Amino acid sequence: MQEHKDIRNIAIIAHVDHGKTTLVDQMLHYSGTFRDNENVDDRAMDTDDIEKERGITILAKNTAINYGDTRINILDTPGHADFGGEVERIMKMVDGVLLVVDAYEGCMPQTRFVLKKALEQNLKPMVVLNKIDRPNARPQEVVDEVLDLFIELGADDDQLEFPVAYASALQGTSGYESEEQDETMDPIFETILKHIPAPEEQTDEPLQFQVTLLDYNDYVGRIGVGRVYRGKMKVGDQVALMKKDGSVKNHRITKLFGFIGLKRVEIEEAEAGDIVAVSGMEDLNVGETVCDVNHHDPLPIPRIDEPTLQMR
Ligand code: GDP
Repeated sequence: MQEHKDIRNIAIIAHVDHGKTTLVDQMLHYSGTFRDNENVDDRAMDTDDIEKERGITILAKNTAINYGDTRINILDTPGHADFGGEVERIMKMVDGVLLVVDAYEGCMPQTRFVLKKALEQNLKPMVVLNKIDRPNARPQEVVDEVLDLFIELGADDDQLEFPVAYASALQGTSGYESEEQDETMDPIFETILKHIPAPEEQTDEPLQFQVTLLDYNDYVGRIGVGRVYRGKMKVGDQVALMKKDGSVKNHRITKLFGFIGLKRVEIEEAEAGDIVAVSGMEDLNVGETVCDVNHHDPLPIPRIDEPTLQMR
């Protein structure tokens, strides 16, 4: 994570059982990210132990996949309307959305709910028609249904041009056409690289990091997960936490975490565009901005309408 990598940040959304988990597992497997992970990092084990003690954490749902020279951060989103506020905050961290739809079932209530949120956030969408191996799959009809749903939900002209990839996550195949499947996940990765915008290059500007989700563990205390919008953040740096009430508190960053595959790993430095976790600030809250000590420039606080710590 030290060297600069091209980055894509996407949220994955789907109705339950349409194949999100299977697809992300397949993409991880195909990219070799799991294999890299096995040699790279003992610290990943520590994190694992911590997580075992604490039970499942919200961070387990962030997945970073290295595909060639690109790091693709995939954020899982709960499909249920009870988590509406959380879905919105997750979508603030990403530039695009990967909508998975079952090629037999078609659009379902949660497809509609999460797609509406993504379109409202002006995210660039792409669609994966999954389960095309099902004998009664009807991919072309379902693509038409998806298009109708986009129109109904008020997608703009750019969003209506969404690319479609066809896949069997179960069999590990994908393609640009439903009839022509590659025995790889390349068509899905290539569609992401081509159509989902990269974060803006703002590495040389003063730091701006916004906390989107909170976590906690006994070893490092409170942890804020979010996106670095501008600049760089290093372990040991003095930073200014811009509080919700308008006050400012200076802090030192004690630890930074990035993601490899499904694991959270300690890193020394994070830069603009990346999604990371930070510790060292016990008074950190969702929506607050961590800034350069000399450039106090908070981002607007997003709407928050449910508890921020979801133990799943
Ligand atoms: P999620 O709820 O969206 O994460 O869905 P899962 O990935 O857990 O998949 C739900 C079910 O659909 C599981 O039984 C999977 O094995 C199955 N499934 C996922 N992808 C495919 C596929 O491409 N083809 C078929 N036939 N089944 C699939």
